[in-house]
Amino acid sequence: MPAAMQGEVQPTIYRFKFDEIEITNVIDSKGIRDGLHPSFGAGHPAEKAHELCRANGIDPNRYEHPFIPTVVNTGRQLILFDTGNGALRRTHEQLRARLPDGHLVERLAQAGYSPEDIDVVVLTHGHPDHIGGLAEGGKPAFANARYVFSAAEFDFWRRGENVREARKFNRELFVQIAAPLAERSSFVEPGDEVAPGIRAVDAAGHSPGLLAYHIESEGKRLLIWADTCVHYVIAVQRPEWQLDVDDDKDMAVATRRRILDMVATDRLFVAGFHMPFPGLGIVEKSPGGYRWVPVSYQLNL
Ligand SMILES: [Zn+2]
Repeated sequence: MPAAMQGEVQPTIYRFKFDEIEITNVIDSKGIRDGLHPSFGAGHPAEKAHELCRANGIDPNRYEHPFIPTVVNTGRQLILFDTGNGALRRTHEQLRARLPDGHLVERLAQAGYSPEDIDVVVLTHGHPDHIGGLAEGGKPAFANARYVFSAAEFDFWRRGENVREARKFNRELFVQIAAPLAERSSFVEPGDEVAPGIRAVDAAGHSPGLLAYHIESEGKRLLIWADTCVHYVIAVQRPEWQLDVDDDKDMAVATRRRILDMVATDRLFVAGFHMPFPGLGIVEKSPGGYRWVPVSYQLNL
């Protein structure tokens, strides 16, 4: 008898020690989407995008879009950065075609954490795939947590002024599931610390107040860049290309350039929410742009 096909087996959790702290990346979900162009690089001919994909060995017509929250255990606090898609696909018809079901809570359990263990939930920004896991069945999913929002981001979605058409539903969603958490939240600005050694970095553009987080532990440094770059080839190798998911396209380009330059120059490790799992790598300068280099064993040493 030939062996039976067993189906996909792929890792969902990746944890490493970062000197005194532990960092765990957990894949909440992944979507398979059609066509990188024109979502990426509108304004440039499709052939240019296809050429770039081919040069990197990927299919321009199908791509995987992972969603990867990060958990940091400082030894004093368990901090979750972003919450994935949660139940949004099931509860909100408008998102059904776009977002997969979130699996963060069950995968946190595989990593040894219950939702009640989470002390702080940091939201890098207010887009659905980052706030979707905040609520489960109408209740907060992380019962004991306090929350940290970017002050500018929270303010933007709360006011609801100048929300572009494509984000009108996003605004409704924010009002439903994130705004009610205000009383248990603190609101931070670039430069503020959310825990000792974890500092907010301005990454606005993709969303109005996007914050990245710089983590330093005993001289080791890592940047949780959230959605600064949302594709590991196109957004990193062509940071100047506009992306339809960016709310302020010019600002997003300027931010990508600044942050890519910083992580490449300072040789920071990067945790990227939409990078290929485990969502960890470094960035190298390359002709005309940069290059995403997935981590090998560097974080294990
Ligand atoms: Zn995102």
